[in-house]
Amino acid sequence: MNIKLQQYINGQWVEAVSGKTREIINPYDQEIIAVVPDGDERDAQAAIAAAREAFDNGDWAFAPATERGAIVRKIAELIERDKEELAHLESLDTGKTVEESKGDMDDIAGVFRYFAELADKDGGELIASPVPNSISKVVHEPVGVCGQITPWNYPLLQASWKLAPALATGNTLVMKPSEVTPLTTIKVFELMEEAGVPSGVANLVLGPGDTIGAELSSNTDVDLISFTGGLDTGKKIMQAASANVKNLALELGGKNPNVIFADADFEVAVDQALNGVFFHAGQICSAGTRLIVEDSIHDEFVNALVERVKKFKLGSGFDEETQMGPLISAEHLKKVEDYVEMGIKEGATVAVGGKRPEDPELQKGFFYLPTIFTGCTTDMNIVQDEAFGPIITVEKFKTEKEAVQLANDSIYGLAGGVWTSDIAKAERCAAKMRMGTVWINDFNLYFPHAPWGGYKQSGIGRELGRMGMEEYTETKHIFQNLKPEAINWF
Ligand code: NAD
Repeated sequence: MNIKLQQYINGQWVEAVSGKTREIINPYDQEIIAVVPDGDERDAQAAIAAAREAFDNGDWAFAPATERGAIVRKIAELIERDKEELAHLESLDTGKTVEESKGDMDDIAGVFRYFAELADKDGGELIASPVPNSISKVVHEPVGVCGQITPWNYPLLQASWKLAPALATGNTLVMKPSEVTPLTTIKVFELMEEAGVPSGVANLVLGPGDTIGAELSSNTDVDLISFTGGLDTGKKIMQAASANVKNLALELGGKNPNVIFADADFEVAVDQALNGVFFHAGQICSAGTRLIVEDSIHDEFVNALVERVKKFKLGSGFDEETQMGPLISAEHLKKVEDYVEMGIKEGATVAVGGKRPEDPELQKGFFYLPTIFTGCTTDMNIVQDEAFGPIITVEKFKTEKEAVQLANDSIYGLAGGVWTSDIAKAERCAAKMRMGTVWINDFNLYFPHAPWGGYKQSGIGRELGRMGMEEYTETKHIFQNLKPEAINWF
């Protein structure tokens, strides 16, 4: 493997303080693909100290925004240059198809380009001062040292949503990727070094969440923590972040409804209902796993889904024929299996799937068959809990009001979809759905210009878009009196 396989702290590639290492395995066949440092609190502390020093005493925060933008743009160019290698690493690490990984790399370069363009567009704002002979202005400044923690499902994409705006706005940072999928993040730190990001500005630590992640969340030298991952971890981070009242950005889970009205374009809705869930074996925070279908087309719709699902080709992400790869780990496979078992106990019916594939070629990997449950109701755990696997639960509705009620019946509020040919109905539903993103006649579409994030327990704050940039800034009001006079009160 042609990457450094080390941590990157204060401009140096280093092993873990403890000397410990961790094996990274390919979820397709459990082969060891890399051995990387397995750091702990001490590595996190060294990285935080470097980022603190670079922020407090370095030039980065006060560098002209055009210069920072140029470096962020250069990172985008390097990602495009090394797209094939990055896509290969991402598929090795996650099991997803190379086609998906290549698409991810295009998106990632697009994210760096978007924030590079925004870097020098905010010159602050003069505001109307009520005081004669004064200047009142509002400026945006970097927050400081940012801790950034990412998950394993879209390792580099999630990292890019954090790295690009943090750098463009002049912050320094310490990133901790998922311990399961660090490879593309390591590679991008090499590219950031090549692009000219100064020593100490961007630091990378590798290892588990309960040591490194916990240190980033609680260390009082960290000013902002940006986390993407599960709800339970998010709650722990929120608590730890209270140590110094850190700025907090949380992108958590989802249990996303996809509402299909009878007047939708049937074929397209079927196709997109499948795409909305089964990409990357359902390991997508915004997967449309809760299908909510109008009663009059329910049976026909489910039959159409089942027929398509039976033909899915599971296999290696490097095989051109493969449509769906494995789950990420043995532990996650067990979670998905338990979840299906629970659904059966709760009285839902397995319309297709519901077990591991029998194909001998797939036995070494963490594969699970795409699964559809019918006869589901909102009181079932399988309808409420995030399985994060290739599973759809189908519920029925009769009226528009009921459809919206079902869609909103969740602790989560990340994303949802509505399929109908009636524009007014679509807009009414979208307005009432309590989610950070609502797609009308589409699903899972996102791009750098639009904010991404959740209502309710799906998170706090937004990534991407202008709001994704603002998360990495503090707002300062500077007031200058041009003709100071004594008040003579005392
Ligand atoms: P996870 O919460 O288990 O882990 C995410 C990261 O947190 C990892 O780097 C992990 O090491 C770290 N971590 C674990 N314990 C920690 C602790 N105590 N303190 C600090 N950090 C800790 O999540 P996962 O299994 O890697 O990812 C799947 C989850 O991520 C799903 O719930 C999914 O919905 C969510 N997700 C959300 C979005 C979004 O945009 N909202 C995007 C992708 C994934």
